[in-house]
Amino acid sequence: MEKDSKIYIAGHRGLVGSAIARSLNALGYTNLILRTSRELDLKRQAEVEAFFARERPEYVFMAAARVGGILANNTYPADFIYDNIAIQTNLIHASYINGVKKLLFLGSSCIYPRHCPQPMKEEYLLTGPLEPTNEPYAVAKIAGIKMCQSYNRQYGTNFMSVMPTNLYGPNDNFDLETSHVLPALIRKFHLAKLTLEKDRECLARDEAQYGSIPGDIKAALGIACPSRLTPRVTVWGTGGPRREFLHVDDLADACIFIMRHVNATAAAASNSDIINIGCGQDLAIKELAELTREVVGFEGELVFDTTKPDGTPQKLLDVSKLKGLGWEPKIGLRDGIRRTYEWYRQSGKDTGSS
Ligand code: GDP
Repeated sequence: MEKDSKIYIAGHRGLVGSAIARSLNALGYTNLILRTSRELDLKRQAEVEAFFARERPEYVFMAAARVGGILANNTYPADFIYDNIAIQTNLIHASYINGVKKLLFLGSSCIYPRHCPQPMKEEYLLTGPLEPTNEPYAVAKIAGIKMCQSYNRQYGTNFMSVMPTNLYGPNDNFDLETSHVLPALIRKFHLAKLTLEKDRECLARDEAQYGSIPGDIKAALGIACPSRLTPRVTVWGTGGPRREFLHVDDLADACIFIMRHVNATAAAASNSDIINIGCGQDLAIKELAELTREVVGFEGELVFDTTKPDGTPQKLLDVSKLKGLGWEPKIGLRDGIRRTYEWYRQSGKDTGSS
């Protein structure tokens, strides 16, 4: 990949795509092709074909996808399977037709079986039943990986797949009903602090910026009942499930590293055309909640809402393949949460909240 290569980042406004664009810009790549979903609907095959024929990108980062937390996946399974299969099918096929030199497909650690031995190695793919709360999403992502491998085998393309662990960072979704756990916790602790400070103006601005606060969370925080002295922060499930978290800037760095240094044909020969990306360490959701509480600086109570699902008991990636290639993450979890909280507050400020 040269500094003036034509590089298309699908999904450049999302958590992952925006981090890849930031990193490529910082490294001096000057020829990025970016389209918003309004300019190019990736679910429309004809639009994607016309775009590729016109722009002829040389490298493609596939960061466009419908993503969401456990509740969103469980509530909108049709959207998760349809959108992802449509987007990836259109992008992978158009990349083949138009001679893209290399493509990076982003899978997810939730593609591995629910009761996978931990840490999860790449070869455990398709060795057991999936976690039901995100099965439609996982099936779509597995189809994408299999498409990349099949095109490589039949047409000699250079399409790599990477499996990121749970990600977080700037431009994440902070909507409390559809987000993943870490942005939800950051926001809930921040809201709890504002409630304690009786800062109604900031609470209203936060809601306008990041989406409405569900009634049950308002009640626990005491927003509906301002006389309560200690707001409570609700954590979904038992707090027992274990997850691994990677800052999205580290993910972007790993994706660019793989785009530059790994080729699918050579990798397939050693069974390495799928690569896990993580930090190799996990923690319980309860520990994550305690850590986030400390970083945000809230001293109130935590409550566990066991009417909400736990999801898969543990998700920890085996990252020895990536380590063996010479890549390691740089951002520790506490520092990453601190930076993300800073971004969250700053981003609010840009549009009026403090
Ligand atoms: P998952 O990794 O696909 O299960 O996705 P999530 O990030 O949505 O959830 C991870 C874990 O965090 C699950 O056990 C959730 O029940 C738990 N969790 C605790 N509080 C929250 C919350 O406020 N939002 C979300 N999304 N998950 C939460």
